[in-house]
Amino acid sequence: MLKDCRTVWANCLRVIKANIGEQSFRTWFEPIVPVQLHNNVLIIQVPSQFFYEWLEEHYVDVLKKGIYQELGPEGRLEYSIVVDQGNSQNKPRTVNIPTSRKAAAPTQAASPAAAIAASALTGSARNVAAAAAAPVSNPDMLRNPFEATKAIDRNYVKSQLNNTYSFENYVEGDCNRLARSAGLAVANKPGTTSFNPLMVYGGVGLGKTHLVQAIGNHIKATSPDKFVLYVSAEKFTNQFIESLRNNGVQDFANFYLLVDILILDDVQFLSGKDKTQEMFFHIFNHLHQAGKQIVMTSDRPPRDLNGLEDRLLSRFKWGLTADLQSPDFETRMAIIQNKMEQDGIDIPPQVVEYLAHSVNTNVRELEGVLISLVAQSSLNRREIDLEMAKQALRHIIEEVEAEVNLDFIQKTVAEYFSISLDLLKAKTRKKEVVTARQVAMYFAKEHTSHSLKSIGFHFGGRDHSTVIHSVQTVSDLIDSDKNFRNTIVDLRKKFVKK
Ligand code: ADP
Ligand code: MG
Repeated sequence: MLKDCRTVWANCLRVIKANIGEQSFRTWFEPIVPVQLHNNVLIIQVPSQFFYEWLEEHYVDVLKKGIYQELGPEGRLEYSIVVDQGNSQNKPRTVNIPTSRKAAAPTQAASPAAAIAASALTGSARNVAAAAAAPVSNPDMLRNPFEATKAIDRNYVKSQLNNTYSFENYVEGDCNRLARSAGLAVANKPGTTSFNPLMVYGGVGLGKTHLVQAIGNHIKATSPDKFVLYVSAEKFTNQFIESLRNNGVQDFANFYLLVDILILDDVQFLSGKDKTQEMFFHIFNHLHQAGKQIVMTSDRPPRDLNGLEDRLLSRFKWGLTADLQSPDFETRMAIIQNKMEQDGIDIPPQVVEYLAHSVNTNVRELEGVLISLVAQSSLNRREIDLEMAKQALRHIIEEVEAEVNLDFIQKTVAEYFSISLDLLKAKTRKKEVVTARQVAMYFAKEHTSHSLKSIGFHFGGRDHSTVIHSVQTVSDLIDSDKNFRNTIVDLRKKFVKK
């Protein structure tokens, strides 16, 4: 009797279904379409290369069992892999590949979660966590690996998001434009943009956590049915270690496979933690394959993530990597103003400007100064003023300008030219004062990390073009006037660190 491919496949499925969990069956076997049966070779169509690899790696034995029962010892299996989905005019493009594996020892993994759990425990990991292998070989769990998590209702699992972080209160500037707009794109269309994964990196306190939390909050607000999960890499690691201890690796994997948007903060924490990386690698692959969105942050660019496996790093390149820089003066001003509005604080404009000029390290530090100012003001029942701000900033300024600070340069130059400090900063255009001022600006540029804007600000509120002009004038004079050059050489000695 001639058999057709559909009947043969339907019978195979019956065998397979009896051997694996329901969820795995739905994930990995329902999407398969039987396409041809010829000379005892059954061809099945699978949706992607990844799908084929996964089947080959984890289900080849159960597949072979089915084929054997249906077609006998001569029966063989071939995959037709969809490499291009096609469209209304063009049919999907496929390639055919025969099954590669010989029937080997039965694979233990019978569901993605079990496979992940099992493979996260291969090699050296197995020695470390011999006990943790137990759930994988526990036949009950294998039959229905999702049973353990059935009780979890995705909507009720807390996303671990902090709803104070939003796009609205994430001030845009040159320092974060790409990362912010990519974040917004991802938040509007999670899993469907080419920014998957989205990797945001930048130094401490520059707004990584804020941005990725804003993505999570936005998705939660617009698609409440989506399971968004924010987790720090540190917490992820601790949970994983805990699951090894409690024979709960499979539950751990199961849980993460339910996530629609996974936000992993500070991935640099995974450096050197091979087993945790392995687990994350598999979760990553599975979620990515299923069209789920992955968002990550790191305190350094991926190329500097030492101690992270290459295969994991190469996954990060699939999507978009965007960096956060230190905010410039205008952005710092906007951040302070935004924060004041949010918290209902009132600070005089010149104090805001002073803060924005002086704290150029990172946003967290800027916020820290604001908070301490507000605290002081309410403690002493005194309005916030410039004096108070200077006081609050003393330790930071000292740190930043430990080498040669602006005050020192101004004082030294003023003394050298025998004029007062006030005159140096005043509006006067008297020639000798102008020259002294220009020289002081020139050295400020040479010996401090102040921006042109900030230098101008500290010289009686001049703008940055005045500073540029001063630096240029001094440079020209050095070239053209020998006496002037000697003056500069003489003065410079005072600013070079001994
Ligand atoms: P990171 O995770 O990079 O160390 P955070 O996201 O924790 O930094 O940011 C530190 C603080 O600075 C947070 O309170 C955050 O809200 C604030 N912040 C950072 N960047 C911005 C920005 N562009 N607009 C508003 N607030 C910001
Ligand atoms: Mg952070």
